[in-house]
Amino acid sequence: MMRKLDLIVIGSGVSGHSTASAARERGWTVAVIDDKPFGGTCPQWGCDPKKVLVEAVKIQDSFERMKGYGLTGNAQLEWSELRRHKDTFTEPIPSATVEEFEKDGIEVFKGHARFIDDHTVEVNGEKLQASYFLIASGASPAKLPVDGFKHLASSDSFFELDELPHELVLIGGGYISFEFAHIAARFNRKVTIIHRGERPLEGFDESIASRLAEYSKKLGIDIRTNTELKAVAKQGSKFIATIGSDNHTEQLSADIVIHGAGRAPNVQDLGLDRTSIAYSKNGVKVDKNQQSISAPHIYAAGDCADDGKLPLTPLAGEAGKRVIKHMLDGKQQEEFSHIQPSAVYTLPGIASAGMTATEAEKYPDDYEVIEHDLSSFFTNKTTRLEEGFSKIILDKKKQTIVGAHVYAAQAEHLINVFLLAIEMNIHVQALKTLLWAYPTAESDIPSMLQ
Ligand code: FAD
Repeated sequence: MMRKLDLIVIGSGVSGHSTASAARERGWTVAVIDDKPFGGTCPQWGCDPKKVLVEAVKIQDSFERMKGYGLTGNAQLEWSELRRHKDTFTEPIPSATVEEFEKDGIEVFKGHARFIDDHTVEVNGEKLQASYFLIASGASPAKLPVDGFKHLASSDSFFELDELPHELVLIGGGYISFEFAHIAARFNRKVTIIHRGERPLEGFDESIASRLAEYSKKLGIDIRTNTELKAVAKQGSKFIATIGSDNHTEQLSADIVIHGAGRAPNVQDLGLDRTSIAYSKNGVKVDKNQQSISAPHIYAAGDCADDGKLPLTPLAGEAGKRVIKHMLDGKQQEEFSHIQPSAVYTLPGIASAGMTATEAEKYPDDYEVIEHDLSSFFTNKTTRLEEGFSKIILDKKKQTIVGAHVYAAQAEHLINVFLLAIEMNIHVQALKTLLWAYPTAESDIPSMLQ
């Protein structure tokens, strides 16, 4: 007889994990299926390992600027040691996740799940049925129409390199490429970013992204725009990337060509065509409860869901909470209305939340865009950082902040303060008069608002 559970979760990342645990706590029978080491992208091949690398590089970067200003000697980055340090964070994740599930009585299936029909999935040749399903299958590098696609390394493999190669070509001018490029450049590697569009980091404020791009060039990062990858070929130990536009092509030699050109929801190989689950290339179509619009016993959350949320960890977590509240507790959810911050962990970084300057400039009677060059601010000067810029968008009538875009050493921290101000409708005067602990990056905020 076929096994039947209350809930089957496909994917053990941020969005799947919490729902599986919450359902089990309520006494449901639950199984989690994952085809990669358990724990998901963020703690193994995403946010966390990246931050571990960035924090080390940050120390070296500050050291370089401060040489001759109180610091002497060399701060040498060493990839294999740093990789081992990173591994201390990532390696325990799969066993810890599986142990936690098993301790809680959640069944664990290591393998690829495919739907056979609306109520049945198959994994490792075994068929399982459930009353409810959560598709939390995440995203993977998008398939690109290039010859030799198989020669492209995924972003996952960057974290597993035994040696950091000497020549890296990064495809796509998004946040993953820029973050990897800034790490590799500090290791004195030759780095080229290939970007199809007019300007890189398209989701971010243009003048802020272009400042970061110019600074990246000063670090030696070669940024090619209006050009795309046509083919990748292996030649001995090297890879040859053919790039170009319609009337011009060029060949770049590299030790590794990394795919940083966008991620696509993992919906293609799930057997969804054999079900009534509505989906598109943007993911499983869901409503505000993360419930499938066509099959009510199916939920989807995280990077694989077409729910209008950015493919970022806090949003995957938020979606998971909605599933718990609706599927388990029967509570209708409000429309999603939160501001979604995003950050690029380059050095310096950029971060963004809320209304863009482009939007604000369409309505000059309603909004004011306050810009500041932060390079002469005390925070920057202490470590001789000559980069920095802020653009804050003010609602003129309400005198509240509705958008913030920063390029700064502590961009990711500053944006959290602005996020709070936007979400809580804090009056700009309150931010100006607050007795901020001084001197801190946050105590620069009143000056950014002048
Ligand atoms: P995932 O954690 O990806 O989990 C999905 C799991 O399902 C995977 O293990 C997958 O293999 C498995 N799966 C897929 N299909 C099947 C199937 N058919 N059967 C069985 N298993 C299946 N976000 C941030 O907020 N901040 C950052 O700084 C940040 N940095 C990032 C850096 C990189 C390099 C990358 C790649 C991502 C980064 N992200 C960051 C994004 C963040 O990691 C994701 O948004 C988040 O991990 C998504 O979680 P999830 O639960 O949707 O899916």
